[in-house]
Amino acid sequence: MPYVPVAHPPRTEILASAERRWKALIEAKPDLQAAVDLQRGLLTLVIDLAQTVDGGRLPRLSLPAKYLAAKLGRGVPVLSGEPIPLPAPLLKPALVRFCGALAVGGAGEVATHIGDAIESGRLDAGSLLAASLARDQDAIRTGATHLGLAPDLAWLVAELAVGPVVHTLQRTLFATLGGVALTDALAAWNQGYCPACGSWPALAEIVAGHRLLRCAFWAATWERTIYACVYCDEQGEAFVTAAPDEARTDRRTELCSTCGAYLKAVEAAEASPFPLVAIADMETMDLDVAAMDHHYGRPPLREFRTGSRLKA
Ligand SMILES: [Zn+2]
Ligand SMILES: [Zn+2]
Repeated sequence: MPYVPVAHPPRTEILASAERRWKALIEAKPDLQAAVDLQRGLLTLVIDLAQTVDGGRLPRLSLPAKYLAAKLGRGVPVLSGEPIPLPAPLLKPALVRFCGALAVGGAGEVATHIGDAIESGRLDAGSLLAASLARDQDAIRTGATHLGLAPDLAWLVAELAVGPVVHTLQRTLFATLGGVALTDALAAWNQGYCPACGSWPALAEIVAGHRLLRCAFWAATWERTIYACVYCDEQGEAFVTAAPDEARTDRRTELCSTCGAYLKAVEAAEASPFPLVAIADMETMDLDVAAMDHHYGRPPLREFRTGSRLKA
C-alpha cells in the first residue's frame, strides 16, 4: 500500500527515543553538540505543541472523500490549495517560543526580531501560518524581506508551528474520513512527492526492505511501486544508488544525473514517528555533504498553486 500509516506513540516514548538518538549522535560526532542542543530545544516544543493540538479541537474539514480521491488521482496533494483554518490563538505564542529557542540556540537577534514582529502583529501570524501550510516560499520570502526579517528563519518557525497541526489533521483525515474512494486513491499514490502537502521527501527510511519516503513537514510516509528518482522518475542508468562509506552499506544515497538531484536512503528498524524525521535528517548530514561535494542538489518545492500573499 503506497500510503503507509505510521504509529504515533505517546509523548514520553517519542521524547525517550529522541533522547537516545541524540545521545548516540553526539557520541559519534561530538562536534554536533550545539546543533543537537538546538534541535532538542525546538523538537521538544514541537512535541509539546503536538500534544496540545491532539487534545484540542481542530477545525473540521468539509472535504468530501470523493473530491479528495479525484484530486489524488490527478497527482495533486490533498491539502494543496485548500483554505484550511489554522488555530492562530494557539499557534501565535508557539511561533514566538520557537523564535526564542532559535535565539538561544545560536540565531541570536535575527530570531528575536522575528519573534518581536509576530508578537507586535507587524508580521501577521495568521498569514505566515497560512503561507506555510500552502508551502508558499515566495510569499514568506517577500513578506519577511519587506519587514527586514530573515526569510529562512521565518519559514522555519512557521513550519515548526504548522507541522503538528497538519500532522493531526492528516491523521484524522486519512484515518476517519476514510471511505473506499479515498483509501483506494491513497493506495494508488505513486508520486515522488507527499500525498498530503506536496513536499519532497526529506529522506527514505528502508524498513524491512520497504523504501518508505518521509515528508519532512509532518512525517507522512509513502512507498512507490517503482524504483526511480523521486524528483524526475528516471529509472535508467542515470539513476544510481551508492554508499559513500563502503563499510556502511545501510546508509546510501540515490543519485540522479538526469535532474542532478539526490535522496538519502537509510535502513531503519522502524519508521521515525513525527517529528523525529528531523533527527534522521541530522544523523545523515554526512550523506548530504558527500552528495553536494559531487555537485548533486535538492530541487525547490514543487508548485501546485499560487496566489496567497503574506500580509505585511
Ligand atoms: Zn507532506
Ligand atoms: Zn532525477
